[in-house]
Amino acid sequence: MPAGQSADPATLLRAARFAAERHREQRRKDAEASPYINHPLGVASVLAVEGGVVEETLLVAALLHDTVEDTETSLREIEEIFGSRVRRLVEEVTDDGSLPRKTRKQLQVEHAPGLSSAAKQLKIADKICNVRDIAESPPADWSRQRKTEYLEWTEQVVAGCRGVNPKLDAIYDAALAAARRKRGGRYKEP
Ligand code: NDP
Ligand code: ZN
Repeated sequence: MPAGQSADPATLLRAARFAAERHREQRRKDAEASPYINHPLGVASVLAVEGGVVEETLLVAALLHDTVEDTETSLREIEEIFGSRVRRLVEEVTDDGSLPRKTRKQLQVEHAPGLSSAAKQLKIADKICNVRDIAESPPADWSRQRKTEYLEWTEQVVAGCRGVNPKLDAIYDAALAAARRKRGGRYKEP
């Protein structure tokens, strides 16, 4: 389907089921260990509900965006089931797991400006969700400093992704401001 046309509900649901099955044993890092699938569903919802995105490839890739990085799923498999455009988009937002964590973080910052427009929107939606998580349901064992450093890093990645979808840019800014307001509040953590 050409970019810009609305997505087929059946395809979206197929992708949601695929992601739910692949992430079924995983949990997020928050204190309640929420089901991992809440995150890709959240990223796709930010794009569609808040960002006004209707493009099927982008919404399907959002649902699948952590399957290759975090489960046994291969890019070849994504291509066979969901096509080459979805595969390319998932590939663009997948870190090279063989590199050390610090290098992966730095490469996200460096690669962001060269990503496709669709991948830039997916990256921002991912960071919106993670910044909201830092504010509302952060990793249980993270120090205050680690959360601060994480927020700063997302800002650097998002700087390279701006200018494609102004709604998403503004939603990220609001999420970051809210997270910082909350953290700057009176009741400071150690
Ligand atoms: P990780 O990559 O290990 O963890 C962050 C990732 O976890 C997110 O990007 C998100 O990725 C996923 N995630 C799962 N659950 C949550 C949740 N509840 N809230 C937010 N994210 C969640 O951490 P980093 O390597 O990014 O470390 C963050 C910062 O801390 C870095 O700037 C690093 O330099 C610094 N650091 C500090 C340490 C310290 O002890 N002070 C030690 C190590 C790093 P996804 O969307 O893919 O699920
Ligand atoms: Zn993610």
